[in-house]
Amino acid sequence: MELLKNKTVFITGGSRGIGAAIAKTFAAQGASVGFSYRSSHEAAAEVLNDLKQFGQPCASYVCHVSDTDQVQQTMEAFLQQFGRIDILVNNAGIVRDNLICDISLTDWQEVLNTNLSAAHWHIQCALRNMIPNRSGNIINISSVVGVQGNVGQANYAASKAGLIALTKTVAREVGRRNIRCNTIVPGIIDTDMSKSAHLDTEGYVKHNIALRRLGTAEEVADVALFLASDLSRYVTGQEIQVCGGFTY
Ligand code: NDP
Repeated sequence: MELLKNKTVFITGGSRGIGAAIAKTFAAQGASVGFSYRSSHEAAAEVLNDLKQFGQPCASYVCHVSDTDQVQQTMEAFLQQFGRIDILVNNAGIVRDNLICDISLTDWQEVLNTNLSAAHWHIQCALRNMIPNRSGNIINISSVVGVQGNVGQANYAASKAGLIALTKTVAREVGRRNIRCNTIVPGIIDTDMSKSAHLDTEGYVKHNIALRRLGTAEEVADVALFLASDLSRYVTGQEIQVCGGFTY
């Protein structure tokens, strides 16, 4: 069964990690997938090659998600190529960690713009197509840090908490237009981003994660598939943690 047959999907940050896994999982379920990325051209080309094997149209776009003009141009290019947008996944994210007193204005703004404001701009662009279609589905990728906070991540935590509130508001505003909006809240997932945190993985995992291992990008993608498909047709305004039972 193809859960996303004939659906068009746009994913931000699809060149690596969780975004790349979502792109492949969705294409395997029949979706036509476009994704944006910032600068990893080789990685993006590899993902695109993987998507092509599924036979549906696919495309990649270089787009700095914190640049509103680039976002608008990219979304227009996607709509021209794919005709409509059924599913938007706001996945692109960055960290610029520091203790609260040492976070520079630049690092604060860069994280908030990339992780939170960019989602708002993509949602505005997507809704211009989804509202007249009376159909749409938006998934925002937050983090457990947005729920619990974390030392050294005030900017990241604020951006990820903001995504949860953004999700609930969008769900309330456009539910009557048959558009759903939900958040995925990953714990520690084995990608370039978590590797850059240089955690003492073994000790950390043992003490903080009930399932005693990191998550995989594919495990997040499977929950995204549930939210993107009709299996979750009565679910909106919610956040689902994909964290292996994470506490700290
Ligand atoms: P990665 O660092 O592995 O990948 C990030 C992706 O986002 C890349 O495709 C990157 O593009 C893209 N990206 C980053 N900044 C921009 C930008 N300004 N414009 C366009 N694209 C951009 O991250 P993950 O896959 O680990 O994370 C994906 C999401 O999941 C993020 O929102 C992250 O906060 C969240 N998350 C991750 C967790 C983890 O443990 N990994 C835990 C909780 C949440 P490029 O390749 O060109 O740089």
